[in-house]
Amino acid sequence: MGAFLEAIDLKKYFVIGHEGTVHRTPVTVKAVDGVSFTLQQGETFGLVGESGSGKSTIAYTIIGMYQPTAGSLLFHDLDLFGKGKTRPLALRKQIQIVFQDPGSSLNPRQTIRQILELPLRLHRSSSDLLTEVVRLLELVDLPPAYLYKYPYMLSGGEKQIVAIARALATSPSLIILDEPTSALDVSVQGKIINLLLRLQRELDLSYLFITHDLSLMRNVASRVAIMYLGKVCEIAEMSEFFTHPQHPYTQMLLSSIPVVTEEEERAKPVKVISTGEIPSPVNVPPGCSFHMRCPRAMEICQRVDPAMVSLGEGHTVRCHLFEQSQ
Ligand code: SF4
Repeated sequence: MGAFLEAIDLKKYFVIGHEGTVHRTPVTVKAVDGVSFTLQQGETFGLVGESGSGKSTIAYTIIGMYQPTAGSLLFHDLDLFGKGKTRPLALRKQIQIVFQDPGSSLNPRQTIRQILELPLRLHRSSSDLLTEVVRLLELVDLPPAYLYKYPYMLSGGEKQIVAIARALATSPSLIILDEPTSALDVSVQGKIINLLLRLQRELDLSYLFITHDLSLMRNVASRVAIMYLGKVCEIAEMSEFFTHPQHPYTQMLLSSIPVVTEEEERAKPVKVISTGEIPSPVNVPPGCSFHMRCPRAMEICQRVDPAMVSLGEGHTVRCHLFEQSQ
């Protein structure tokens, strides 16, 4: 049996007008460009990257909002975008998403009861919707008094908890968490993370956790992929990732995050100074897309896009430095 979810050479390109000109000559933005990863049942797999790295495009492709340009997405070995197939309802309910901003993802004109009833009506046959909605509220530790509240009456954290309850309504096995705490106060973030971890244990959920926050990822994910301009540059187990980061971009990210313990300070890479700005996704440089910022760039990096190299034990890195040592 294959992985629970597997992306194989996934690509998603968008064709847009030419940036900064009045001539609308189309250009192609390679938002996701040849991404491969696996996610196992019951695990939390982290996707980390700066804005524009393509991590949210991957999320929207998995839930079917976007059709991939090329590549495959397998869920329990079934191709989610097999030729000529419309994704069956039974498969759609298995994959849900929680968005970053709960304020805009909940209909302000509906009560919490109405919000939670909608996916139940669409995906489940239960005739006792009210009992189901109360059960969902119990699952996320909200009392029945919330049934008749509107989103504007809730705090940001409570809105996100309702969004999580809504994602649970179809009894999914995979939930995509797209920056689920980044719009919330720090004091609320821990509560949401603890809730997600408890639900994962109790319901055997798998999470694809998307964030730009490596410190947060450290506490929730078992494996992590680092993305840069539409490509994955490193994948590793979380402990390996923090103790032996290999890609210069990963080292740059890790060298700038705050640490708490002396052990973490010792494992932290020496401060890596990046040169240059992150390029525009509409004008990705040739060769390794990180070469303009990389302190270890070589001549070949300007011409040739590096291939993914296995370092063993599930640790892979996309960088010419490691191709040469093979
Ligand atoms: Fe740096 Fe070259 Fe490796 Fe890219 S391929 S990360 S430019 S050393």
